Amino acid sequence: MDSLLFFFLENMALIIALLYLALKAKELLFPDLTESTFLLVLSVVFIGFLTFSVMYNPYIHEGMRLDLREVPLYFISYVGGWKVGILSAVFPSFYRYSLGGPTAIEGVLQTVVLPVIIGSLFRDKKTVNKFFALLDIKRMVLGLLVFEVLKSITMLVTTPATIFITLSMMFFSMVAVLAMGLIANGENHHILVRKELEFYSNQDPMTQLPNIRYFRNKVQMLVAQYVPVAIVMIDVDYFKTYNDTHGHQKGDAVLRSIGQLLRDHTRKKDYIARYGGEEFIFFITDPLDDAEALEIAERVRERIEQYHFEGEELQPEGKLTVSMGISLNSYHKTLDQLIGEADQALYQSKHHGRNQVTAFSETEEKESVNV
Ligand code: GH3
Ligand code: MG
Ligand code: MG
Repeated sequence: MDSLLFFFLENMALIIALLYLALKAKELLFPDLTESTFLLVLSVVFIGFLTFSVMYNPYIHEGMRLDLREVPLYFISYVGGWKVGILSAVFPSFYRYSLGGPTAIEGVLQTVVLPVIIGSLFRDKKTVNKFFALLDIKRMVLGLLVFEVLKSITMLVTTPATIFITLSMMFFSMVAVLAMGLIANGENHHILVRKELEFYSNQDPMTQLPNIRYFRNKVQMLVAQYVPVAIVMIDVDYFKTYNDTHGHQKGDAVLRSIGQLLRDHTRKKDYIARYGGEEFIFFITDPLDDAEALEIAERVRERIEQYHFEGEELQPEGKLTVSMGISLNSYHKTLDQLIGEADQALYQSKHHGRNQVTAFSETEEKESVNV
C-alpha cells in the first residue's frame, strides 16, 4: 500500500519536475518561440518522452502496469487539441503495446487514447489556436476528473485493480495536472507580460506606427555601419487650423490615415515612426542614389496630397498636405546629425510654401534644394 502511494508520488513529482525544466529550457533557448510548427514538434516530442519516462518503470499489480501516463497526454490534449494529443500518444501507444501483458490493449485504450479524447473535448474553445493563452485550470481539472471516473469504473470492472488503486491514481493524477496547469500558466503569464511590454514600449498607440524609441534602436546600427541612408522628416501643414476647424478627434483620425499612407507607400526595408505630435520620421534604407531617395520621399508626399481627408477643403490650400525635409549624405554623420539636417530642410519646405520635399544641402545651409 505504502509503496503504491510512494510510487504515484514519484510519478507525479517526475512529471512536474520535467515540465518545469522543459519550460525553463524553452525560455532560455527559444525565448521568442510562440505559435509555430517547431514549437508543436517540440511539445509532441517532449510529451512523448515524459509519458515514456513515467511508463518505463511501472508499479506492477497482478501483471497490470500502473503509472500516471494519462497525465501528460491529457494535459497536452487539453492545451493543444486532439491532433497534438494523438501525435504525442503515438510513441507511448507503441511502447505500451510492445510491452504486451494481459492488459496491453486496455492499457493503450484507457490510458493513452481516452485521455486524449477527453482532454480535447474539455479544451476551452475560446483559447483554441492560442498556445499561450492562460489555461482555465478549473475546467482542466474537472475534465480530468471525468476521465478518471470513466477509467476507474472500466478498470474496476475489467481488471484486477482495487478501489484503493484507482482512487490513489485519481488523486495523484489530479494533483499532477493541477501543478502542470499552474506551472504552464505561470510561464505563459510571464511571456504574455513580456510581449505586451515589448509591444507598448515600441509602438505609438494612436497611429500604431513604431515609436521613435523603436525607430532609433533599429536605424542606429545602420547609420553607424555607413550604409547609405536617407532620413526624411515629415510635418503636417496647417494642422493647428485643421484641429481648430474639425476638433482634435478628427485631427487624430488624420494622423492615423497618414500613418497608414506611410505604411502603404514605403518599401518593406524602410523604417517609419511617429516622431511626436504631428511629425513623422522615415528612414530610407540603402537608396541607389540621392535621386532614388528623393523619388521615394516625393512619391509619399504626392500620395498624401492625393488622399482625400475629411473636411480638407477648409484647409488654407484647399487640401491637407505635408512638408518634408530630407538629409541625404549620411557618411560620417550620427543619427542625431541626420535628423537635425532633415529638420532644417523641413523648415525650408515650410518657408517656401509647404507641400514639398527639400533636400538638406551642406554648402548652402540656408538655401537647401527644393524638389
Ligand atoms: P505648419 O504648417 O507650420 O506645420 O503649421 P501647423 O499648424 O501644423 O504647426 P504647429 O506646430 O503650429 O501646430 C501643430 C499642431 O499639431 C498643434 C497641435 O494641436 C497639433 N497636434 C500635435 N499632436 C497632435 C495629436 O496627437 N492629435 C491632434 N489632433 N493634434 C495634434
Ligand atoms: Mg509641427
Ligand atoms: Mg505642422
